[in-house]
Parts: sequence; structure tokens; C-alpha cells
Amino acid sequence: MKEKIEIIQGDITKLAVDAIVNAANNSLLGGGGVDGAIHRAAGPKLVAECATLMGCRTGDAKITAGYRLPANYVIHTVGPVWHGGGKGEPDLLRSAYRRCFQVAHENGLKSVAFPAISAGVYGYPMAGACEIALQEAKAALEKYPEFERVIFVPFNEGALRIYQDTFKRIFS
Ligand code: ADP
Repeated sequence: MKEKIEIIQGDITKLAVDAIVNAANNSLLGGGGVDGAIHRAAGPKLVAECATLMGCRTGDAKITAGYRLPANYVIHTVGPVWHGGGKGEPDLLRSAYRRCFQVAHENGLKSVAFPAISAGVYGYPMAGACEIALQEAKAALEKYPEFERVIFVPFNEGALRIYQDTFKRIFS
């Protein structure tokens, strides 16, 4: 099962997978960070489709087409803003990952790539965010045997090391 998990440092917008996950905001109308990169690479039809979705609650996820991206779909999720950890942030982050996997399953997808949801502008500490990401991937691979690839995409060296260390701890 752990063979289905890959950690690839780089730009998530370059990946040719069934779906990439966007760390969006509640409006789904675009923002900075990975959200801005995904909208730039997908082209203006993405924001047009997002505008029909009426936003997204924190901890929920919604799917659109991928337009000019090499990925077929984008699963937009909204992670929590970090307020110190006592405002339900871990449960909300867990819910964001769970909903992404559920939406992927409902749409018959087999490969999904995730950025480090909430661990940028939203301030969630990378180590804690990564732990939740990998725990939820493990649970999803047990629950949905049709998934073939779950890819995590740390954006820099520091994040890559945290993903690798956390992977070793959870899977060996
Ligand atoms: P959030 O608002 O949920 O914190 P951000 O986009 O600010 O979302 O950051 C989430 C993570 O995505 C950060 O670790 C950031 O470094 C990373 N990131 C930014 N651009 C990209 C990209 N093109 N591909 C993959 N990860 C990215």
C-alpha cells in the first residue's frame, strides 16, 4: 500500500495526473500561493467554473475540470487558517484531506496529487500538516482500493525532508 504513495518535490501544476488538489480559499475565486499558480496554468475557464460553485466551506472540497493543466481535474479544498491549534485546526485539516479523497472516489479517479494544504499563507506548521496528510492517505488507500497513486508535492527542500521523515515514521 505504501508503494502507492509518492513524494515529488516541485510544481504541482506540471503533474499529469487525474486530479491535482488546490489549497483554495472559501470564495474559490483564486488567491496567491498554489491557488494562484493553478489558476494561471489552467487559464480563465477555471475561475469561470469556480464562480458557479458558490464557494466552499473550510474542510470541504469541490471538483472542476483542469482546462489547460496537464491534470484532468482540480479538487479545490479549503484548509483551516492556523490560530495556534486550539480552534479545531487539526480536525478541519483532516476533513479537507478526507473530502478530497471522497470526491476523487466519487468521480472514479485513480491518481491524485496534493500540495501542503494550509502550510503556506494559512500558517499551519509543516510537520503537523504533513502528519495529517500522510495519515489520511493511509486511511484512504485502505478504504478505496481503486486508488493507484497518491502524490505529495512539497514545494521546497525543507518541506521535502519533512515529508520523507514523516513517511518513514508512519509506514515502517
Ligand atoms: P494555504 O493558504 O492553504 O496555506 P498556500 O498556497 O499559501 O496555501 O501554501 C500551501 C503550500 O503550497 C505551501 O507549502 C507552498 O509552499 C506550496 N506551494 C506554492 N506554490 C506551489 C506549487 N506551484 N506547487 C506545489 N506547492 C506549491
